[in-house]
Amino acid sequence: MAKTLKEGEIEELKNHADIQIVISGYVNLKRSGKSYVGLCPFHKEKTPSFTVDPRKQLYHCFGCGEGGDIISFIMKVENLDFIEAAEFLAKKVNYNLQFIYTDTPEMPEKRSRLIEICELAKKYYKYILFNSKVSERARDYLNRRGFKKEIIEHFELGYSPESWSSFSNFAVKRGYMLKEIIESGLALQSSRAVNEIYDRFRGRIMFPIKDIVGKTIGFGGRIINDAQKSDANVEMQTQGRQVWMQPQTKSQALTKPEMQIKMQPQVKAQAKYINSPETKIYSKSKSIYGLFDAKNSIVEKDAALIVEGYTDVMTLHQEGIKNAVASLGTALTIEQIGIVGRFTKNIILVFDSDAAGVSASMRGMERLKEYNEKLDLFHESNINMKVAVLEEGYDPAEYVLKKEREKFLERVDNAVNIIDFTIDMILRKYDINSLSDKLSASDELLGFISTLSSKIVQEECIKKISEKLNLRESLLVEQLQKKSSKKSYRKAEDSVSGQEGIKRNEKMVSPLRNIEIEALKIIINGIGDKYYDLLDIGAEFFNFEDTKKLYEIIKEALTESKSDDGGVNFPLKISSDKLEDEQLKRLYNMIIFSPVNYSDNNLACLEVYNNLKRIYITGKIDEVKKRLKQFENYRKELTKLIKESSEILTKKPGGEPENKKPEKEKLEKVDGKIEMLNLKLNKLENELFKYK
Ligand SMILES: [Zn+2]
Repeated sequence: MAKTLKEGEIEELKNHADIQIVISGYVNLKRSGKSYVGLCPFHKEKTPSFTVDPRKQLYHCFGCGEGGDIISFIMKVENLDFIEAAEFLAKKVNYNLQFIYTDTPEMPEKRSRLIEICELAKKYYKYILFNSKVSERARDYLNRRGFKKEIIEHFELGYSPESWSSFSNFAVKRGYMLKEIIESGLALQSSRAVNEIYDRFRGRIMFPIKDIVGKTIGFGGRIINDAQKSDANVEMQTQGRQVWMQPQTKSQALTKPEMQIKMQPQVKAQAKYINSPETKIYSKSKSIYGLFDAKNSIVEKDAALIVEGYTDVMTLHQEGIKNAVASLGTALTIEQIGIVGRFTKNIILVFDSDAAGVSASMRGMERLKEYNEKLDLFHESNINMKVAVLEEGYDPAEYVLKKEREKFLERVDNAVNIIDFTIDMILRKYDINSLSDKLSASDELLGFISTLSSKIVQEECIKKISEKLNLRESLLVEQLQKKSSKKSYRKAEDSVSGQEGIKRNEKMVSPLRNIEIEALKIIINGIGDKYYDLLDIGAEFFNFEDTKKLYEIIKEALTESKSDDGGVNFPLKISSDKLEDEQLKRLYNMIIFSPVNYSDNNLACLEVYNNLKRIYITGKIDEVKKRLKQFENYRKELTKLIKESSEILTKKPGGEPENKKPEKEKLEKVDGKIEMLNLKLNKLENELFKYK
């Protein structure tokens, strides 16, 4: 959804946020004259050169040159884009930011209402977990799992009482409508009556799922224990009512007999975890548990650990391993990779041995397959995906608790590239000493390799397999080609029938396009001493719709951020609402993902600049030549016409013919045009020479 801030909102927000107070949350500031100084959070230093000026509401570091207003500080320190930083700050200082949504007018109000309900639920469940008798077992459980109070508070865990409507009633009393509570995902419509809803989460430990700026958008709920459940439930139900339902009227409290009966048999069918459903604010495939708390550590360590569960994330964070997040039950989705990829290119999947399929368990292989299908995507966006496997039977949480954190970190350090890992995984299924197994193994491996589109990666894989199976590389390549040709035949068929063809065309990258992408990359990263020439080159130098558009957006963003006193921070972050469509977002992500490793930055910038100029001028030259050719042909026709008519006329007795005059005039005009085009051509060719 596209949204922009209402006019003047940033000023209003800044008026609500005192820069010195907000920065004090990050930096220990001491008064020095009219300003405050502290140790810079953006570079390592021993004597303070980081200065905050409360009168100007600006900060500046004399050590590393960082500086700007409160928004740019939040952007930098929290790794957020502009809009996100504004939202983050607004939440911090309790200011209600006003947005303009471009698609549906009723959405903004609705969204903020739903977030309010989730925030309310978070506080409600939290209060119960820490203060109520009904959550004793939940607290015991968390205790047994080794969680300290601080970490439970940090992740704002809660407990949903074993009751059908305690939260729903609470929310209704706070003025929310039944419909809204349902839309927040926290309650469901009862089938018995239209005006009756019931709580989705009952008797569960609640894990709030937050967005990138820390707002609660959904929940995961875990049952406490599978054993002795039903007895305890009944007991808790009654206790729960005493504690939490006192203010309710009789009709609100659930005393209806069928509800009571329904409760007990349902207990054993409960899933261990349930999550919020897809709502207007929460989407499972786009959310990552713990990212809000992990993002700064991910940037600092330049790696993200992807674990499976909420408790894994918590245990690791408790042990100081703060770059761990969870993908909420599925393999990472493309969207999730895009989000994590904003903070690092290095993603490490932490599998407990069971999930990884070390014992070739079906589930493990399936899971890995989900990742394998995305290998091309990782490659394209330069994501370095690795797999770390723990020992049999441990999940990350148990591992850290029982085996110590150093051993866990050792496993992570030894993580294997996902492609190597897959190859090993396949090999493990076969006895390579038997010939028939060896052939089956090579067949399966080649099948896997043929799905990879990068020739370089394919080649590397072949090399590896050839060593492992002791087979000639050339033989494997030949087999692979057979497999690939079969596949491309199939693909060609698909492409005739539609969509696949479009996708494949998108993938074909021409050298021309590459240069334009490279140029955008240099502009985004602010590289080279010819930088401003490249920046000002002009949209006409871009030939593709998306590269042209992105160039324009970047240029605009740069001018905007320049005028904001703070100078420009590279790589240039562009908030996703400015990138209108998916194609642009993908292009921008791809560029921001790809590493900058030119051996000579100035040269790289110059080369790209020269290339763009050359391509553009060559195009112009072709154009001029074409027109020149047209005029020359026209001229030939004209002279022929003049010659013919004069021959006819001279044969006739009498003076100069009158109708010859317009032709002559035309000829003069054409000659003038040709001369002009030749001059132009000459000029262009001279100019082209400058960029060779
Ligand atoms: Zn600094």
